[in-house]
Parts: sequence; C-alpha cells; structure tokens
Amino acid sequence: MRKLVKLSVVATLAVIFIFGLIELFYRQTYSVSLKGELIGYTNDKVSLQKRINDYIKSGDGKNVAFVEIADLPTYASCMLKKDVETNDDEIFEKVVSTGTAYSKYYSITDNNEEKAYLTSFADAENAVNQLKEKDSANSSTLGIVEKYGVAKKDEESESDELKILNNDNPVEMSSIDDSVTKLYVKKEAPKITKKTASSSVYKNIGTKIISSESSVATNIGITLIRPVSGTISSRFGYRSRDNHKGLDIAAPKGTAIKAAAAGTVTFSGSGAPYSGYGNIVVIQSTGAVSIRYAHCSELYVRSGQSVAQGQVIAAVGSTGISTGNHLHFEIRYNGTAVDPQNYVYN
Ligand SMILES: [Zn+2]
Repeated sequence: MRKLVKLSVVATLAVIFIFGLIELFYRQTYSVSLKGELIGYTNDKVSLQKRINDYIKSGDGKNVAFVEIADLPTYASCMLKKDVETNDDEIFEKVVSTGTAYSKYYSITDNNEEKAYLTSFADAENAVNQLKEKDSANSSTLGIVEKYGVAKKDEESESDELKILNNDNPVEMSSIDDSVTKLYVKKEAPKITKKTASSSVYKNIGTKIISSESSVATNIGITLIRPVSGTISSRFGYRSRDNHKGLDIAAPKGTAIKAAAAGTVTFSGSGAPYSGYGNIVVIQSTGAVSIRYAHCSELYVRSGQSVAQGQVIAAVGSTGISTGNHLHFEIRYNGTAVDPQNYVYN
C-alpha cells in the first residue's frame, strides 16, 4: 500500500514537470491559413479578423467605397515554440492583397447620359451648380450618379492617387472647370424655332439620378413587394460615410424572407464574389434588375431555380459582416445599386 502511494506521487510530480517544461518552451496560439496554405501565426485571432473585417467594410483610402476579398483566412489553435514570432501585420497584408478595392466616383449626366466623371460628389455638385448659374440650356436635365470602379495604384505615377478602372478601362477624371466647359450648352435665341436635341434622342440608361435638390427615381420596370416586415435599421446612403448600398430591415432570426420580385436565382450560398454578405440569395428579375438578400440564417433556394414573387427564399439571420439579425436588401439596376426605398418601404 505504501509503495502504491509513493508511486502515484512520483507519477503526479512527473506530469507536473512535463507540463512545466512545455509551458516553458511553448505557448498557446493560432495558426492562420489562407486557401489551405499556412501564412503565419497570431496570438489574437479576434483582433486580427476584426481588422480584416474593418478593411473589407471601408478600405484604407478615403475614396475606397468597399473591398471584395475572395478568401478569408481560417484559424486553428496550436502550441507554438516561444521563440517563434507571430506576424499579424504580414497576415493582414497577405489577405488584403487578395482583395479588390472599389472606389466611388461621380458622373454628371445630361438626360441620363454620362458626360463627365469627377472624383468627389462635392466637385460634381459644384460643377452642376455653376452650370445652373450660367443658365446652361441643359440645367433642368442634369444629374449626378454615383459610380463604382476598381481602384488601382497607378504604377507610373509618383502620387498615391488611385486609378479607377471600369471594366478594365481607365476612367478619365475631369476637373470642375473641365466639366463645366464640357457640359455647358448655350440657350438658343427664342426666335429660332428649329428643333434642338431633345430628351427623346437619349436612351435612358437608368441609373439613379441624384442632384443637389431632388432625388429622382429611375423606373426599374417592375413592381416590388416587401421581402420582410420589420424595422428599417439602416437606409441606403449615397453620402453616408460607408456608403450603404442596400436597405437594412431588422427582424428576428428565422423570419421568412420573400422574393420581392419573381426571377431566377443566380447565386445562393456564401463567399466570393459576395464576401461579407454572409449567406446570400441573388435573384435576377429582368435583364437589368438583380436583387440581393443578404446575412441570411437559412437559404431555401438554389442557383438556377425560378422563384415567384412572394415565395419564401431564405430566413433572416446575421451571417457575414453583420451586427444583428436583419435583412440587407439590395437592388442593382444595370449593376448600379439603387435606393430600395424608391420602390418599396416608401
Ligand atoms: Zn446592409
């Protein structure tokens, strides 16, 4: 009996000694992988992921509207030798370098035709106001449209200025003065009755027009119903800091989401190209209109499926970059986000 006690004391001491040794040379940490490849170690995966999420939300430049990242890192807990260093900064850079940053820019339109591109809303507004002051013949048909383009650092230029690409073509930016010169149309003397270029000449390319005084909604050609009933928690914002491209409707987790319009499901799932949206359903309603239902807890439809207006397609959740249960309802008209409240919840 005494022998047995002695033995168990020795065994316990040995275990304590071994754990002590491990403690001395190893520490608990996380290995970080991207697309299955180990890219480093972090002691604080929560802070690192938050930094990545913040970057996706608003980028790092003042003109970056949002960032799409194809692959997010995965974390696994591991014991690491104490002398191996963590590399949060390097991991962050690596993840960010796989993303695409989109910049905002603004087009001055005349009868919905894009005439000049400027880098800030204030500049575009300034040019439009100057044209109105000069009593330009097109004063009443001018508008400002917000656009998004891929933002790239200009390698040939010394400056930090971002080059904006639209379908791989660089968009040429105009100054305020250039825009005024380009858009100014002299009013014809009243005695001349010859017909001048009228609105019917221009095709309606259908982007939402915003001007300094009024917001004119584009006719998107279909009627929508409310996808969920709930409280509007965040509106579509052209000028808000993080430029919200949809309408957020708060509702309890599991609330049925109905298709606002009939159409064909083009995406149902999560991840690229809809990183940050969590579980998302995208429905193409017409050639021009595509509607996104994001942050869902459940998805009930699959890609390729036809859905009727009012059909339950998903359930409200808080997946992706989201702080609470809500539906992010986003309408794209010819690729450009338009204010859902021009069509429903108004
Ligand atoms: Zn939202």
